[in-house]
Amino acid sequence: MRKNKLFLTGTFIGCMVLITCLIGCSKEDNLSLEKKLKAGGSVYLTFDDGPTGNTTTLVSKLKTAGAKATFFVWGNRISGNMTGFNAIKNAGFSIQNHSYTHSHMLSWTYQQVYNDIKQCQTAIQNAGGGTPRYFRAPYLEVNATIKSACSALGLTIVQPTVDTKDWNGATTAQIVSACNNLQSGGNPLMHDGYATTNAAIPTIVTNLKNRGLSIIQY
Ligand SMILES: [Zn+2]
Repeated sequence: MRKNKLFLTGTFIGCMVLITCLIGCSKEDNLSLEKKLKAGGSVYLTFDDGPTGNTTTLVSKLKTAGAKATFFVWGNRISGNMTGFNAIKNAGFSIQNHSYTHSHMLSWTYQQVYNDIKQCQTAIQNAGGGTPRYFRAPYLEVNATIKSACSALGLTIVQPTVDTKDWNGATTAQIVSACNNLQSGGNPLMHDGYATTNAAIPTIVTNLKNRGLSIIQY
């Protein structure tokens, strides 16, 4: 009889400890989740290599999703793709510099680098796109010469914080998944020119909003 009582008491205490722990743990989980949701912050959605024949589709996807965006354009693609360029401009999206010829510039002289980047500035200005203040290096290749030329032109170099690999055949699901890793202040490497990227836009925007991140532009 005594043994039974002891056993019952022991079981009762055990259960209470377990319940307290479960409540405590789930409370903690809820708190950290809440914190994450409220942490907020902002990210950029960036698209390189336009304007192209794809630009109007991409711009319309972004507008429908209610997102802002930044386009790092090739200077020498502007005159042949004015419809796309104007779609970016008319949507109020940010137009920034991705060089004129999109070349490997690591072995170039300062003057060569400066001239190419400056030519892109001029092409954007002449097309009514304003004066860029940000630069995405072709192939993300940056050295001291490129840094100096950008500095002389008043351009801040923007490297991506996440690579969606859309340029390397990533699926729409993989592009969406990569963007789930964006942290506040970050921007993904994405391109203007892939149906997979276009298709990823609605879910990327929904997921960012659900994480409490707002989308801003350069
Ligand atoms: Zn590029």
